[in-house]
Amino acid sequence: MSDEHGFSTRAIHAGQEADPLTGAVVTPIYQVSTYKQDGIGGFRSGYEYSRSANPTRSALEECLAALEGGSRGFAFASGLAGQDTVCRALLVPGDHVVVPSDAYGGTYRYFNKVARPQGVEHSIAAIADVDAVRAAIRPGRTRMVWVETPTNPLLGVADVEAIAEVAHSVGALLVVDNTFATAYLQNPLALGADIVVHSTTKYSGGHSDVVGGAVITRGGVTAAGREDVEERIAFHQNAIGGVAGPFDAWLTLRGLKTLAIRMERHCDNAERVVDFLAGHPAVSQVLYPGLPTHANHDVAARQMRRFGGMVSFRLRKGEDAAVKACAAVSLWTLGESLGGVESLIEHPARMTHASVAGTELEVPGDLIRLSVGIEDVDDLIADLREALDVHG
Ligand code: PLP
Repeated sequence: MSDEHGFSTRAIHAGQEADPLTGAVVTPIYQVSTYKQDGIGGFRSGYEYSRSANPTRSALEECLAALEGGSRGFAFASGLAGQDTVCRALLVPGDHVVVPSDAYGGTYRYFNKVARPQGVEHSIAAIADVDAVRAAIRPGRTRMVWVETPTNPLLGVADVEAIAEVAHSVGALLVVDNTFATAYLQNPLALGADIVVHSTTKYSGGHSDVVGGAVITRGGVTAAGREDVEERIAFHQNAIGGVAGPFDAWLTLRGLKTLAIRMERHCDNAERVVDFLAGHPAVSQVLYPGLPTHANHDVAARQMRRFGGMVSFRLRKGEDAAVKACAAVSLWTLGESLGGVESLIEHPARMTHASVAGTELEVPGDLIRLSVGIEDVDDLIADLREALDVHG
């Protein structure tokens, strides 16, 4: 599959040749742990044991690399399993990481409660502000800058190109969590990032039926004083073993085939929901990168194809009203996660971001986060209107 092909052509075909044995047009679920060897070490097509490699997972990994414009993709059992593997492959005690001031709560929890006790320190920086990222760097110790854009849940936007320059000027790697934007709306590797990570649980899988993670690398990158980054990640994927199982890989591969059309519809619906919220008297602020009033709208317009399906907003009447409004909807589902075909609503301070309460990453109590699905948008707006008219 050539890089010249369009996004959906790659999503449907990359890594997914018709099955050589039967001609099946969909990659089979190779639900198998081990493979017959033709004599010791005589592996058929390189397969030996499914932690190391499995044909269904290989198809997904090739597809992920093709969609992000990377040289290799790696599929994991969850987004956090992928993030952990990246960090363990590339950081050692004494190293330092710059972490976004607004990030998925689990990412912050990882750096604070898992990496830090193992000797990897971090500083928090507002990644929408390139100077703040520069100021957070500790020369000689910062090995990695971690960026989420747009961020979860405040929809902040980082200038990937500018931050890549800052990170590279001190020999640090730039890792971008591209979960919210997806490979369809944004390709951080083309903007200078070294590694892209995804929670494929979200838009990539797209149907709220599978948990998974992805790491995509750009070949030829070396971490200061260490071996080839891609090789280290490949080694650690197998050595740690937090890989995607065959059925999970298959579901994610199926989800990716429709990513482009789903994202177009998510964006269409989100834009209509944003218009509605911006005109509702109960709403004090709408957070969406597509709004010209968004602090980094210009950056988002430069690096994203469109602005995505995630929308956050704040209510004038505060936390109590936000909690009640979340419970008052009927078509929107009150739930964690995001990126599925169905619309979800949640209260970050008490749900997805409860783990950052009392830290620098605490989120406002009057904030509601929406994952705008692909239903008929008039139905979504009518349901929201009813909840906000009563409880906003
Ligand atoms: N990154 C972002 C932006 C997320 O929203 C999440 C989960 O919500 C993760 C990473 C972690 O992914 P997972 O839940 O698949 O481990």
